[in-house]
Amino acid sequence: MTEGVISRISGPVVTADGLRGSQMYEVVRVGKDELFGEIIRLDRNEAVIQVYEDTSGLRVGERVASTGSPYSVALGPGLLSSIYDGIQRPLPNLYEMSGDFISRGVFPPALDLSRGWEFHPSAVPGQKVAAGDVIGTVSEFYLEHRVMVPPSAAGTIKEIHEGSFTVSEPVCILDNGLEIPLMQIWPARKPRPFRKKLDPDTLLITGQRIFDTFFPVAKGGTAMIPGGFGTGKTVAEQTLAKWSDTQVVVYIGCGERGNEMTDVLYEFPELIDPRTGLPLIERTVLIANTSNMPVAAREASIYTGITIAEYYRDMGYDVALMADSTSRWGEALREISGRLEEMPGEEGYPAYLATRLAAFYERAGRVICAGSGERIGSVTIIGAVSPPGGDFSEPITQNTLRVAGTFWALDTNLAYRRHYPSVNWIKSYSLYLDTIGEWFSEHVAEDWREIRDRAMYLLQKEVELQEIVQLVGPDALPDSEKIILEVTRMIREDYLQQSAFHDIDSFCSLEKQYWMLRVILSFHERSLRAMNMGVPIEGILKLQVKKDIGRMKERSDADSLKDLIEEIGQGISELLEEE
Ligand code: ADP
Ligand code: MG
Repeated sequence: MTEGVISRISGPVVTADGLRGSQMYEVVRVGKDELFGEIIRLDRNEAVIQVYEDTSGLRVGERVASTGSPYSVALGPGLLSSIYDGIQRPLPNLYEMSGDFISRGVFPPALDLSRGWEFHPSAVPGQKVAAGDVIGTVSEFYLEHRVMVPPSAAGTIKEIHEGSFTVSEPVCILDNGLEIPLMQIWPARKPRPFRKKLDPDTLLITGQRIFDTFFPVAKGGTAMIPGGFGTGKTVAEQTLAKWSDTQVVVYIGCGERGNEMTDVLYEFPELIDPRTGLPLIERTVLIANTSNMPVAAREASIYTGITIAEYYRDMGYDVALMADSTSRWGEALREISGRLEEMPGEEGYPAYLATRLAAFYERAGRVICAGSGERIGSVTIIGAVSPPGGDFSEPITQNTLRVAGTFWALDTNLAYRRHYPSVNWIKSYSLYLDTIGEWFSEHVAEDWREIRDRAMYLLQKEVELQEIVQLVGPDALPDSEKIILEVTRMIREDYLQQSAFHDIDSFCSLEKQYWMLRVILSFHERSLRAMNMGVPIEGILKLQVKKDIGRMKERSDADSLKDLIEEIGQGISELLEEE
């Protein structure tokens, strides 16, 4: 442990002399209030430190003490339902300890150190264990929290005990003397190890038609949601938190508007997990950056979040990490870089923005976990991006585009027309279509890809046709093309629009998604056939079944949708008879 002296202060960035022998990313305590900071640049005798707390009042000449370890996250039972700031300080405790204005140098422990957890060993004395092996469990709400041998540890179990333990008491002792408590400590900026990364060939079910059917994301994949103000990023992130088929959600909020995060802090604990009826927060870890928190803590928050996500992945769970919005993180990076007087890149962002973003998204994945057995776990990252003015050419959007597997482009015009989710089907894409195709064939329907592509083709055709209509009016189109416009209207209004707040429609099973689309496409096919046999389009456009198609969303029984195909057939037969 060495000590240095502050030589310069620039907002959250402090320079200190004399911290000899310190490491990059080492945590230091700064000034007489012992503010929490991290070394982000080392030049011979000079250390540049980003401070996670408000630096006003700090003075040149005050001392800086190194701690010898990097910024690390506490991992163990008690994470679920916690609400943390960017450096894992529990917010409720912080407010309790210091009132509305968080006082400095205050560090409540990330996990409750006095609470007892009932530990059930699954390993026995004499057993050889290695990093990642599960040695027992505790119940964390309704999740089985698997207690693992920490990375890089190994040995033979000398003692292991059933009973109630706090997170820091050893539950197991190895022959080499190593004590294993319920809690692990892991440096936030370093990815946790796993055995093997798997191909992204399994769908992350979200229950949202535009996502699952049109632009799916794989478990362990990455998706980005760029969109201007009010286009529905936060609603999308929360809908995904509620409905995605994951066991654990890590939600990193970086408030856009002043009071937005406060809303999340009040609202999130009220949300109900629709699958279990239990509070959603019981399987969620919430990390909140309010706008009055220092930028460096915001910069750290995504690492705190991803480390927690990886920890639950290592137990063999599917985890979704939501970051809303990563633009606020990028801005923190830009501000710190500016204070460091680094050479600015595009729009003032540092040149390493791209590599930082890539390294973050790279921590997503579906893996065979470390340790024995074939535990499979995944972390899926879903990052919202809020480009100023909704202009996707800005650096955060562009650099995220390069690394995200799925691109859900939110559209201001669609949002303005109250078409929600306002995902633009022409601009969006998913790189997982090919790898996930087989999964769909096996779990949903053999021809899923075919009907999905057919619907997509019609939507693309619609753009072309609309241009013609704008130029020369609708009458210029032949009936075979007029019917396409009717079918794409159905796809847009009766299929793609999906209310996040409707009792039934907020979640749409894959079976229902498939049959809804089959019904619409079958309307198209049969109409074309009938028109070829002389039925006028006017008759088809008046078919009663259109009303039922418009109300497909409200049906909870997917099977009953098959009847609609019959109904279409019947309506059309009647028209044919009239001929
Ligand atoms: P952003 O985070 O992009 O600024 P929000 O997620 O707060 O935007 O969405 C703004 C508003 O749009 C919401 O308050 C809601 O009324 C509406 N909205 C967005 N998505 C949906 C949806 N899927 N279903 C219904 N309404 C939605
Ligand atoms: Mg928002």
